[in-house]
Amino acid sequence: MPDYSNPQIPDGINVSHTHPLADFARWPVLDRDLIRQHRLEMRSCHPGLQLLTKSTGGSSGTPLHFDLDLDSDARRMAAWHRGYSWAGARPGTKQLYLWGAPTGARPWWKRCKDQLYQLLYRRLVFNSFELSEERLPSLLKRLDRYRPEVIVAYTGPLFEFARMLSERQLVPHAPRSIIVGAEKLHPFQRDLIQEVFRAPVFETYGSREVMLIGAECERREGLHLTAEHLLVEILDDDGQPTPAGEEGNVVLTDLFNYGMPFVRYANGDRAVAGWQTCSCGRGLPLLRQVVGRRLDVLHTADGRRIPGEFFPHLLKDYPTVRRFQVVQDAVDRIELRVVPENCFTAEARTRLTNEIVQVLGGRVRFELLPVQDIPLTAAGKLQVVVNRCAAAHAENVARR
Ligand SMILES: [Zn+2]
Repeated sequence: MPDYSNPQIPDGINVSHTHPLADFARWPVLDRDLIRQHRLEMRSCHPGLQLLTKSTGGSSGTPLHFDLDLDSDARRMAAWHRGYSWAGARPGTKQLYLWGAPTGARPWWKRCKDQLYQLLYRRLVFNSFELSEERLPSLLKRLDRYRPEVIVAYTGPLFEFARMLSERQLVPHAPRSIIVGAEKLHPFQRDLIQEVFRAPVFETYGSREVMLIGAECERREGLHLTAEHLLVEILDDDGQPTPAGEEGNVVLTDLFNYGMPFVRYANGDRAVAGWQTCSCGRGLPLLRQVVGRRLDVLHTADGRRIPGEFFPHLLKDYPTVRRFQVVQDAVDRIELRVVPENCFTAEARTRLTNEIVQVLGGRVRFELLPVQDIPLTAAGKLQVVVNRCAAAHAENVARR
């Protein structure tokens, strides 16, 4: 894992001059912990610049508060609307949101404000926490009655929804298109969602810190980057650009947030480098592939790195596993929690265990643990991989 704990501006760089990108590459990379520690120093104190404060929970469970100026906020909104409109979700279209609704008690005026906002945007919102076998019939009824043109959803819960409908051979209303975000979209998830809803799925990639980073257009050849105000780099753990086709750390520079500059910020995600253009002719560069959170990667005792993607890829051949989660507590201990169907046999369990042990190697203690349920995160997402070692490591780096 890269160490970003001691950033230094190199000698010979005058920040008031413009430089080619090669010079910029000498700037230090910042991470979430550094920004959390130095937020007040990073905020602009320019008189007259009005700041908005936002926060993000993040899959590490450590909140990050940050600021942005109003102009930057307007740019982000515009980029979001543009990216979503490529998938047919212009403002004013009827949309169904399957999203994590705010948790905890909220004052009445906040609830009213939320409802008014959703009404003006013509949105019906399903809370991803509401999704269950028992509530499936009523959710389907509401969906069919509302007949949205577009469904916007967290990937995991929408996949769950599609799976439940498919198992019962229920046919929902088909929207014109589906937009997924907030979580990595695996190919098998895209296939099933498209089959059940009979509509194309568009992947988007964003984060609370900068909002929409990339979105697919109708050609779906990759994610068009919001390149007018975001510089996206893919770097290896030594801070060097990753060769095309190889995976690296996503590093973002927001070129317009004068309220609190995010310059070379490693947001903790991983993506595959290799810029290309799209046949649609939009010109904005394409990001080849988003891999997921860095925390989604498992580290084995013998120094190998197993991408979290390995598990969904393997488990898709086990239809008797309804839901699963991989938990790494220690470098030599990995647990796979599964919510099994009744017909999950001892034979399937042994076969699955053997396949995983073969990949993890003999130095990792592996356990397959059947459970009743796997709760969603506080943000309403299904976290497929929980790497507690990586989070602890990041904390140690921040404290040094
Ligand atoms: Zn395109």
